[in-house]
Amino acid sequence: MLDDTRQQFEDYIADLFAVEDDALKLAHDAPDYHDMPQINVKPQDGALLAWLMRSIGARKAVELGTLAGYSGIWMARALPDDGKLYTVEASSKHAEVAHASFVRAGVELRVEILRGDALQMLDKLAAQGPFDFVFIDADKRSYAAYLAWAAEHLRPGGIVAAHNAYRGGHVLNPRGEDDQAMREFLAALASDDRLHGLVIPMGDGMAVGLKK
Ligand code: SAH
Ligand code: MG
Repeated sequence: MLDDTRQQFEDYIADLFAVEDDALKLAHDAPDYHDMPQINVKPQDGALLAWLMRSIGARKAVELGTLAGYSGIWMARALPDDGKLYTVEASSKHAEVAHASFVRAGVELRVEILRGDALQMLDKLAAQGPFDFVFIDADKRSYAAYLAWAAEHLRPGGIVAAHNAYRGGHVLNPRGEDDQAMREFLAALASDDRLHGLVIPMGDGMAVGLKK
């Protein structure tokens, strides 16, 4: 979706600010080797998540949609040693691949993979709150419900971030339910008076909300 010039800027910025070690490179490529969708966030998105977490001193974070653990590694590394990332994944195969990624990255003690449907897991997770940071990157149709949960369970000054705000450009001209769901999510974020919302135009668009 990015035009050539924007893509060149993003690659330039990623080369400078989102340098990957072997563990990150392996996690990024893992979906190719395990017949999983290649839908990790981009390196610059990972660096953005880590930067946002560090900016608020995040210690307790939640991720919805683990895949192979790529974004999870970026997030876990932004936590202090006694910090915790709960990452929720519906597919046990993805969860298994992600676990191996977290071990390779040396962050497995800081990461708990919760296997199951995100909405059900969030119900259980609520007891561990409040949280500093929530990253939404699972099924688009539940984004609005995930946002509602985050708005309730973030601490004041906490941040919710959500991937794919642009839907590859289709948020402007929705093709189907997922694009429409993203529009509804963004409208909910914009009008939620518990949050300061915005979209950071990195990659496929990173929606963010700062809890008042
Ligand atoms: N955040 C990852 C990419 C996530 S891809 C990264 O950037 O590295 C989306 C993931 O969400 C997939 O692994 C998919 O299995 C999972 N998922 C989709 N719907 C879900 C649901 N309702 N509950 C939990 N996980 C879900
Ligand atoms: Mg995504």
